[in-house]
Amino acid sequence: MEVKGTAALYPGTFDPVTYGHLDIAERCVRIFDRFIMAVAVNPTKEPLFDVDERLEMLRAVTGDMAGVEVDRFEGLTVEYARKRGAQVIVRGLRALSDFEEEFKMAAANRKLADEINTVLMLPSEKYFYLNSSLVKEIARLGGPVECFVPPVVEERLREKLASRAY
Ligand code: ADP
Repeated sequence: MEVKGTAALYPGTFDPVTYGHLDIAERCVRIFDRFIMAVAVNPTKEPLFDVDERLEMLRAVTGDMAGVEVDRFEGLTVEYARKRGAQVIVRGLRALSDFEEEFKMAAANRKLADEINTVLMLPSEKYFYLNSSLVKEIARLGGPVECFVPPVVEERLREKLASRAY
């Protein structure tokens, strides 16, 4: 697919999307011509939110960000990147602990598709410790999550946890 400019794909589970993901997205829309946030449909993971719910939240929180496209994909990330004409895969790097996993994944993706480059982005330092699992755990324990996720996600978390027996 021939597309003008540089397109970047930001793949992830986004279960749910947090201010850490959005911090990366805000940095990327300033760099790339097209920016695609895509929910990876991974049958081996057991997410709290189903794919459609994760997509709805992503769309809601990126609605006012020009240049962001939201989508879902199954299978190999590099195949989907090729299909969408993305030359770059973006991943977030918080702590040194992220490095090994991201390095391995970037190296594997390079083996599969040498023309696609992985860019590892640092979020603002206030999000260095933040991940979706932490947010879900705090929400489950009844703690406040408004400093980690946008209001629409906070609301969906509350609804989801209320509908489940813990
Ligand atoms: P995955 O299961 O693919 O890791 P996640 O939704 O957990 O999906 O994360 C998607 C990407 O976003 C990963 O590259 C992850 O490192 C990054 N990320 C998650 N939380 C943050 C954060 N607080 N700051 C920066 N990057 C983040």
